[in-house]
Amino acid sequence: MMTTEVLEKTQYAFPGLLNGKVGIVFGVAHKTSIAWAIAQRLSAAGMKLIFTYQGDRLKENVEELANTIEGSMILPCDVTKDEEVAAVFEAIEKQYGQLDTLIHSVAFAKKEDLAGAFIDTSRDGFMLAHEISAFSLTTLAKAAAPLMEKSGGGSILTLTYLGGERVVKNYNVMGVAKAALDMSVRYLASDLGPKNIRVNAISAGPIKTLAARGISGFSSILNYMEEHTPMQRNVTANEVAGMALALVAPELSSGVTAEVIHVDAGFHAVGF
Ligand code: NAD
Repeated sequence: MMTTEVLEKTQYAFPGLLNGKVGIVFGVAHKTSIAWAIAQRLSAAGMKLIFTYQGDRLKENVEELANTIEGSMILPCDVTKDEEVAAVFEAIEKQYGQLDTLIHSVAFAKKEDLAGAFIDTSRDGFMLAHEISAFSLTTLAKAAAPLMEKSGGGSILTLTYLGGERVVKNYNVMGVAKAALDMSVRYLASDLGPKNIRVNAISAGPIKTLAARGISGFSSILNYMEEHTPMQRNVTANEVAGMALALVAPELSSGVTAEVIHVDAGFHAVGF
């Protein structure tokens, strides 16, 4: 049986699988970011990458990581700023004239809305969480589609969580935003399917990242998973990245769209 350690040490690089393809990754903030794990797998398979960072606070971090990937481009982009989104896609058009992949690994909610009771969510907090964590997928898909059409199609992938399907303590407004995100995946897949652009989501199990630390009681969720998932363990960002690679590569998933795939050691299937 393969242990998690063995899986982590294995490269699974699939060199050449994504040669000649161009992808943009939204959501790298730190080396623990799920987006960073995904970027490394896509790059190892030959994809050229563009990274974005949200605000100057994260610039240095993202630059340091992106610079380890030869030839990558780094651009600022707060997904709530239309002019920054437009500038990103103009830069890609100028540099590459095409786009094959978009990774949307972006979410935000106010800290006070990730604890206590959902009923106490403020109007502001609700709008903010939905704008950044759900609506941004539509904004970015709309901007990316013309460049993907030039590639003859493409793959858009977002990251979601079980808290959008079931009630998870403290996940609150982010769960409601994830439900909107999951449904956006299906509507976008329907809109963009005729252009051979596929839209999917990975529902990841809990992974210790900057965003996850904002959720009250996150460590106890990790402990609970170890006891209650069918595989009796948590998943790693690298395992999520493996599924991302499959969903991005047309050779592996050309018939898959409008799908939410759980990479959560089977927890989504567990009842009592
Ligand atoms: P992370 O903190 O590394 O990534 C979150 C990213 O969102 C950061 O890069 C941040 O800069 C970006 N972001 C926030 N507001 C933004 C804005 N206005 N404009 C542009 N970018 C913005 O954490 P992560 O856990 O890697 O999160 C990535 C995705 O995975 C999120 O959608 C999250 O909900 C999802 N997810 C995480 C887990 C988990 O347990 N970590 C589980 C399931 C799903």
